[in-house]
Amino acid sequence: MAKKNQLGVTPLSEDVSAWYNELVFKAELADRGPAKGTMVIRPYGYRIWELLQSQLDQRFKDTGHVNASFPLLIPMSYLQREADHVEGFAPELAVVTHGGGKELDEPLVVRPTSETVIGEMYSRWISSYRDLPVLINAWNNVVRWELRPRIFLRTTEFLWQEGHTAHADEDEAMEETLRMFDVYVEFALNVAAIPMVKGEKTPGERFAGAVRTFTIEGMMQDGKALQSGTSHYLGQNFAKAFDITFQDENNELQHVHTTSWGMSTRMIGAVILAHGDDAGLVLPPRLAPIQIVIVPIGRGEQAEAPLAKCRELAAQLEGLGVRAHVDDRDASPGFKFNDWELKGVPLRVELGPRDLEAGHVLVAQRVGERDDKGRPVKETVEFEEFVTGAPERLDAYHDQLVARATAFRDERSGVADDWDTFAELVGRGFAYALHCGEPSCEDDIKAETSATPRCISTEDGFAGEGTCIRCDRPSVYGHRVAFARAY
Ligand SMILES: [Zn+2]
Repeated sequence: MAKKNQLGVTPLSEDVSAWYNELVFKAELADRGPAKGTMVIRPYGYRIWELLQSQLDQRFKDTGHVNASFPLLIPMSYLQREADHVEGFAPELAVVTHGGGKELDEPLVVRPTSETVIGEMYSRWISSYRDLPVLINAWNNVVRWELRPRIFLRTTEFLWQEGHTAHADEDEAMEETLRMFDVYVEFALNVAAIPMVKGEKTPGERFAGAVRTFTIEGMMQDGKALQSGTSHYLGQNFAKAFDITFQDENNELQHVHTTSWGMSTRMIGAVILAHGDDAGLVLPPRLAPIQIVIVPIGRGEQAEAPLAKCRELAAQLEGLGVRAHVDDRDASPGFKFNDWELKGVPLRVELGPRDLEAGHVLVAQRVGERDDKGRPVKETVEFEEFVTGAPERLDAYHDQLVARATAFRDERSGVADDWDTFAELVGRGFAYALHCGEPSCEDDIKAETSATPRCISTEDGFAGEGTCIRCDRPSVYGHRVAFARAY
């Protein structure tokens, strides 16, 4: 048993898995639901989701998309119309066989994803090239039966968004697929402070029913990859299965080309695992429910004036769009500091009677300089300067988290041209290696190292050709494949 800290959480440095499982409860992010694999997202966790959702949704609107809602229940026969799709999802389906006290004529599937029902609707809505493109997103919940559930990372029911678009030709649909892929990459970096490894999935790892799948993969602090968002070019697979056709400009009947793309509550798991430390959560400021917590110091009557000033500062911060909170609970400062550290609040401010007299606050960062005893180094900042400088200070903190996560990822990753190097690298992070593209060879690698191909990396410096890292066949992608153990 690893030693727990004073708040009852196993240190991350000793056991990442135990740390994660304990922290989601201790930080009041989520709880287990009564049905196996389900989760209850508590208010603190749900606020993170709301912040994620609103900032991602704005990006969808900025790229021309609109939101709509589709049904939770889908006739079983719909899934069977696309062979790969049903084969891929069959083991994870929850099926409703009874309704209103009677056995149903046709079982209904609780949606695992909505390509089929949306495909059916698009076949009714699209008839001419003038109807295209259709650019719709849905925020909803889906159900995929999980045998080994973990809160946020793998739950039987989860929240997500699924974008579904229809286009006149392949070029336009591929452009959309890559546009939304770029949105995810940018969002992960600029909102979640996670530098993603990005690229295309190998054929064996594609979405069931897709022609091409693009993925973003974050590195977690145990060196494992976490798939955090995917964008798919579906070709005409669903258009043919659901007869989504249109008259083109020459009056010829054509099938549309479709895309789909999604990001889920799993992203909260990514934030926890990418940034947290022994003391608890570390939230990036743009997803933090509370960005600055202000703690009044002092007892009895002495505490009144500092508390009033704390409230005044919080109101001024709110006026600048900063999410500030005054902790006026009847508890010791030490308890409060530990509590807000556990909850990952980016900045902590202290204000006591002497500070009030001097006209300044003491500012400590959740991640930052520490003294000999491991306590945060506090910076003295005048009231006005603190308030006006707060947005900039939060931006700088965001950049600091990005730099830290990038350094961690890069330090644990590398190019592998021989098997020993490969095995060593996937034991702690990403290994970029040449691969033959054969699924059986991917299976061999997985059996021996637990690592899977996360994506074909088309980033600078990863182009290459030669012999497969595992077998004697030649490499096929023209680029290295990022391998890692994954969640
Ligand atoms: Zn091979």
